[in-house]
Order: sequence, then C-alpha cells, then structure tokens
Amino acid sequence: MTKYLQAEQLARSIQDPKVRAAFSSVDRSRFVPADLRLSAWSDRPLPIADNATISQPSLVAEMTEWLNVQPGHKVLEIGTGSGYQTAILARLAHSVSTIEISEALSQSAQQLLEELGYTNIRFHIGDGATGWPEPAAFDRIISTVAFPSHPERLLAQLNSHGRCLAPVGPPGTTQWLMLYDKQDGKITKSALIPVRFLGLR
Ligand code: SAH
Repeated sequence: MTKYLQAEQLARSIQDPKVRAAFSSVDRSRFVPADLRLSAWSDRPLPIADNATISQPSLVAEMTEWLNVQPGHKVLEIGTGSGYQTAILARLAHSVSTIEISEALSQSAQQLLEELGYTNIRFHIGDGATGWPEPAAFDRIISTVAFPSHPERLLAQLNSHGRCLAPVGPPGTTQWLMLYDKQDGKITKSALIPVRFLGLR
C-alpha cells in the first residue's frame, strides 16, 4: 500500500470535516526523522529525538476530534514533541500555546513550524505539568504526555466552558484517556479509552 493510500484511508475515518481537512494538510513525514520518512503514514507511533515518540496518526485524529476545537479557540498543548499535533491544532484554532520539557525537541519543532509558515503558535520550554507559566485561561487543553493523576493545575487554566483531554495513570499501569468538561466552574470527568503514552519527565 502506498503512503498516500494509507493517509487517505486514515483521513476517511475522521468524521469532522474540519479535522479531516486539517489532518490532510499536514504532512506527517516532515515531523519524523529522515530515515523513517517512508513509514510516516503507517498507523503506528514512531520514535523522534530525545527518547520521545510521535503518536500514531489515528490516535492523533481521534484525540483532535474529541477536543472539538473551534476557530476562535485558544489551545494549550503539553508535550510539543515533533510539533505534528501542534500543527494540526494550529490549523483549527485561533492560537496554540505549547510546552515541551526537552529544549532540543522544542527548538526543532519551532524551527520546522516556522518554516512551514505557522504564525499562531507560541512555544515554552519547561514543565507542562504546572500549565502555562503566566496566568492564562484556555478554551481547550490537550496533553500528549501521561499525568500520574488528574491534571489539576491544567484544569485550573480552563476557561468556564473549557475542555481538557489528557492520558492519566501512574507509570506502569493502564492509562486512560480522560476527558474533562468544565460547565460553569464544575468539572465532569469521563474515561474514554485505555492508552499508552510516555509519562511526564
Ligand atoms: N505530540 C507529540 C508527541 C509527544 S510525546 C508529537 O506530535 O510529536 C510526549 C512529549 O512530552 C515528549 O516530547 C516529551 O519530551 C514531552 N514531555 C515529557 N514530560 C514533559 C513535561 N513535564 N512537560 C512538558 N513536556 C513533557
């Protein structure tokens, strides 16, 4: 199967047309190491620099659909990694603020995303567990790194009708992809699917 066919098949499984368009317009092969370019569209996670991994495309697509990003939204992302998920979010949102603990990963993502012409992304190098370093309120928050327990510091930065998506579970146990919906200050939690993500460093 050619990489294009695989990409097309993946895109077809996405229900939301805006997510499908965003997904189709970001070339995953730009975000993986050069020697893995041919595998870029196979539906599996791939290693990137600094012991990190870029999630499998179908999971990126599914998480993006669950996040339900609208054009006016300010989004916070924890775990910039290669910048692939960041690019998809930046196509859907008003702006994306993204935090990565590895300086090398953040810098290469920043360079690539600038080269690709994105202008609505701001980068921070540091610990994402505590949220954006300045006081802020986001419409959507997504973590692509697992939290050992509910990400309270992130939830504190959700605006009054915000939504947060994060893998949660102590290291070595099954993690659940958790969805947090805030309605008038009250948070509803739902466990969506079991997942395996790298834990917070
Ligand atoms: N979304 C990324 C995949 C990221 S993998 C992509 O599309 O490529 C998880 C990332 O979280 C790794 O890059 C890892 O370095 C980063 N990370 C780990 N602990 C972190 C922390 N405490 N704060 C911010 N980022 C962290």
